[in-house]
Amino acid sequence: MRFSCLFRPSSNGNEGADVPIKRRTLLKGLIILGASLVPRVFGLMPARAAEAKRPFEVTKTDEEWQKMLTPEQYRVLRQEWTEPPFQNKYHDQKEKGTYHCAGCGLGLFSWRQKYDSGTGWPGFWQPMFSDAIGTRTDWKMLYPRTEVHCARCGGHLGHVFNDGPAPTYLRYCINSAALIFKPSSARE
Ligand code: FE
Repeated sequence: MRFSCLFRPSSNGNEGADVPIKRRTLLKGLIILGASLVPRVFGLMPARAAEAKRPFEVTKTDEEWQKMLTPEQYRVLRQEWTEPPFQNKYHDQKEKGTYHCAGCGLGLFSWRQKYDSGTGWPGFWQPMFSDAIGTRTDWKMLYPRTEVHCARCGGHLGHVFNDGPAPTYLRYCINSAALIFKPSSARE
């Protein structure tokens, strides 16, 4: 039986009394691990709470963010909302230019690394600069995902997956609402 190494059948009513210490330690460990995962799996614990908080160069109060961002930008950047696929501004845009953080203006992605991922969200195989973005583990779903945020203001951008094209084989799946596009012709 698959779990025979974890649960030993009792024949004398003295359950667990002669379970080897190693097995009891393993069982205890599994119970503790399970208890720590339940709040994350069911969204009871914000993904950020488990990660060490680090200061960002651009910081604002929640009230200030709400005032300066549109409701959609605020939901994505500050509340980690995901916009609907195919119903967002840049998912099929191919124009030459750069994509900047809608929260602080930092340049994040370029049209040169943008590609059609077919998912309905803007897809990039690489950010413009490796230090422009930060990542952390997101436990909102039933499995861990790598969340992507702006390295300067901490605004949530989307997620990165390992199913992108060469040469990085990464797919930065980014919400349009988190970005402001600046056409190449308009660059200073
Ligand atoms: Fe930013």
